[in-house]
Amino acid sequence: MTATEWILKLKADGVLIEGTKNEKQYLHLQTPCKVHLTDKATNQLRDSYQADQEKGGVLVATPNRINGITHLTIDSAIFLTNVSDTPQNSYLPDSKELSEALKDTYSGQTENSLPIRFHTHPTHSDNPMNEMFNYIFQCNTSEQDQLVSDTPVSVGDLRVLMPRSLVLCNGKLSDRMFIGFYNGLIAPIEFEAHRNEQTQKAMESIFENVSEWAKDESNKWWVIGGGITLAFLIIHYNKFAIPLILMLIQMSQMFINEQHGQPKYFAQITKGAVTIDLPG
Ligand SMILES: [Zn+2]
Repeated sequence: MTATEWILKLKADGVLIEGTKNEKQYLHLQTPCKVHLTDKATNQLRDSYQADQEKGGVLVATPNRINGITHLTIDSAIFLTNVSDTPQNSYLPDSKELSEALKDTYSGQTENSLPIRFHTHPTHSDNPMNEMFNYIFQCNTSEQDQLVSDTPVSVGDLRVLMPRSLVLCNGKLSDRMFIGFYNGLIAPIEFEAHRNEQTQKAMESIFENVSEWAKDESNKWWVIGGGITLAFLIIHYNKFAIPLILMLIQMSQMFINEQHGQPKYFAQITKGAVTIDLPG
């Protein structure tokens, strides 16, 4: 099947539909969409991650439309050489390798698939604490990332706009990996807003659990002890205590997905396969 035939088949199957942005017509994924990353894919991404430079390429996604839901299964990634002059903070794929990879995914030898372009953000620091901060603060798309994510791929006369993916690992302190999907006309172009909403939910739930727990007579002294400790910290460290508390709130974001059900737009995983919802 040629690339154009393949895209037209996906349109007929309902995997791709027409959409417009800034008066331009695109073909994009039909939502709701579920992205399944296999064990093999998450291992490959984690093993290939380099904390001191940006890497990237194409995630090879096999699409299916079943009972009104678009499923994309990702079992492997193709890494493309970073030709940027400053690979420590930008990613620019080798254009020849990129067009080859796109051609291969759109009309593969054995099975046609869809390419999802991805890149990583580095988190390296000699200080493990800074590395954790880098992990937290680099978990978002840059302005440049957002801008280029509007660039479609032309397949014949058709303009296909797929979501893009961002990948980060936290090396020294844990084997935690962040993987998120943005834009493609079906997901937000940044993760901040959604992450804040998730943090809010997690904090509410933690607060609820704590108040339930504190109601128990036998836990009363622990609450008083905790209150005194917190007051002591604030008095003792005064100006340092506030960033400390803010830091703890930021850190709580790292543990949210695992506590609060089905990941949406992004997931943070330590091992194994994962499914991420793009509800649309
Ligand atoms: Zn980036």
